[in-house]
Order: sequence, then structure tokens, then C-alpha cells
Amino acid sequence: MAHSTQKSQNRTNSLFSRRGGTFLPAPRATRAAVAGATKALLVVAHPDDEYAVAATVYRLTRELGATVDQVVITDGAGGYRYSALAEEIYGFPLTDEATGRKYLPEIRRRETLASGRILGIRRHHFLGEADNGFTLDPNEAELAWDIQRVRGFLTQVMESEQYQFVFTLLPARDTHGHHQMAATLALDAAQALPEERRPVVLGADPGVSGKRPAPYRALPGRPHTRAAAHVWEFPRTRRFGFREALDYRIIVNWVIAEHKSQGYFQTDVGRHDVERFWVFASAGSAEWAAASMLFSRLLHADSGLPAAMHAQGA
Ligand SMILES: [Zn+2]
Repeated sequence: MAHSTQKSQNRTNSLFSRRGGTFLPAPRATRAAVAGATKALLVVAHPDDEYAVAATVYRLTRELGATVDQVVITDGAGGYRYSALAEEIYGFPLTDEATGRKYLPEIRRRETLASGRILGIRRHHFLGEADNGFTLDPNEAELAWDIQRVRGFLTQVMESEQYQFVFTLLPARDTHGHHQMAATLALDAAQALPEERRPVVLGADPGVSGKRPAPYRALPGRPHTRAAAHVWEFPRTRRFGFREALDYRIIVNWVIAEHKSQGYFQTDVGRHDVERFWVFASAGSAEWAAASMLFSRLLHADSGLPAAMHAQGA
């Protein structure tokens, strides 16, 4: 198998490490460890859901010195239907359901690690819950997952790491039920913490600039999924580099390309040019101010590193 050289996602001290067949600089772990730096947790249902926030996460980790970790709740075994193009790459008939379900959890874990290398994600937590495929009903996830275990893990990791921000996918009613449940559990976990240590939880949805997002409504029977009306945006088209010729769509396309087992996902190249964020209404005024400052930095900071981080070096 092509990925046999991969062992640990936490090996950050070599200048270049092999991940998914590509060579990328190791994350700037020392910089991220500086006190006062922004820390965020991404909580998603599936390996590849980081797509929704890819440009924002890259900007945070690679340009603003933030630390971002990721929790992936399911093992992604349900993603076998469009795997035809990856059968040659991985050497298994993945579109056969039994074969796909057997090999995809490990394949998709490695794809997510490779994507995480691009995005500068420090640490991944793969919870390995069942992925029974597409549904609009969050209750299906509730039946298939060990909800207490996931909620407990999220609470514990939020408690021990003291993230200021938690990103999850916006739990709109017309999205995957697994996304709805992932957001619900992230909010449950945040609310279980004492108020002074509670992170700001934001729901993300990629969109098209100039096209207004559909109004978001809380999930029925889950009032804590209510969000404030204001929507923040980070444009993937934000320019940088030599002659301002580069933009974050390049990063997003790299992320998509790492998930080779997900054939249909590859057609999302160029589809969304903005990442939108809703702050859940449980946030108080301090959290709201923190979110406002976060987006101010995302949109306006130059190289982004505050003086304290420069002093420490990378
Ligand atoms: Zn998903």
C-alpha cells in the first residue's frame, strides 16, 4: 500500500516529513506553543469535512501562528460509492461495499492527515464511530454513534486544551445528519464547561460570494444550535504572494486532491469562494468580541504574528 511509510501525525520536528506521497514543511509547533496564541478545535463528522474551513485554518496556522487541532468523529467507511478512481491508487476494489468499508477507514485517515499537513493542523483525533452513509436525520447518528463517548471526549479535550474557538459545520436542516449531530455534540461539550473557560463555537458553511446564504434556523428540539444573525466571511479569493498572484483557493484545491478516495468530492474544485461562519447564540458578549477580533485578524493582519510570537521565534 502506498501509505506504509506513515506512522504518526505528531512527528513535527523534522524539516520535511513524508505524508501521503507529498513533501511539506513540518507545522510550526514551537510557534504555536507560545502563550497567548490563538487555539482552535475543529470538530467534524467525516474525514474531508475540513474542506469547509480550509482557507481559514491555513490562514490561522500558517500565517497567524495559531494552533488548530481536529476531531473526526466517524471512520468515513460510508464513502465508498465514488471511489472508483482511487481503486488503482490504493490497490483495492473500494466501490465494492464490503471492501470499501474494510479499507476506507485507514485510507481516509491517511488522506485526512495529508490534508492536515497542508493546513498546518497540529493534532488529529479519529474517534472511529460508524459511518452509515448519507442521511438528513441527525437521530440516525445518535443511534449509530456512542454519543456519550463522543460528547465526553470533546468535553475533555476542550477542558484540557483550553481552546478559544471551536469550529464545526453549520448544522442546517438540509445538510448531512452527521454534520448536524457533530455540531450538536460540539455545542453540548462547550456548554458543559464553566462559563469562563467556554470556547466560542462557530458553525461554518462554504458558499459563493454574491449569493446570499439561506437563512439558518436552529435544529428542532435543539435550541442551543440557534445562531446569531450576523455572518462572518473569509474569502478564499484573498490575494497574497508575488504580484498578489496567489490566493487560498489553491490551498483548498490541494485539500480536495488529498482525498482521492472521494471521487465526487473532486468536482468541488472551484465551487465555493468564501467560507462563512455563524456564531452560536450561547456566546456572551465577551465571546462575541473574541469572534469579532478573530475575523479582524483573519481579514486585516499582514504577516499576522503578534510581537510576542516574533520574539519567541519558530
Ligand atoms: Zn461530511
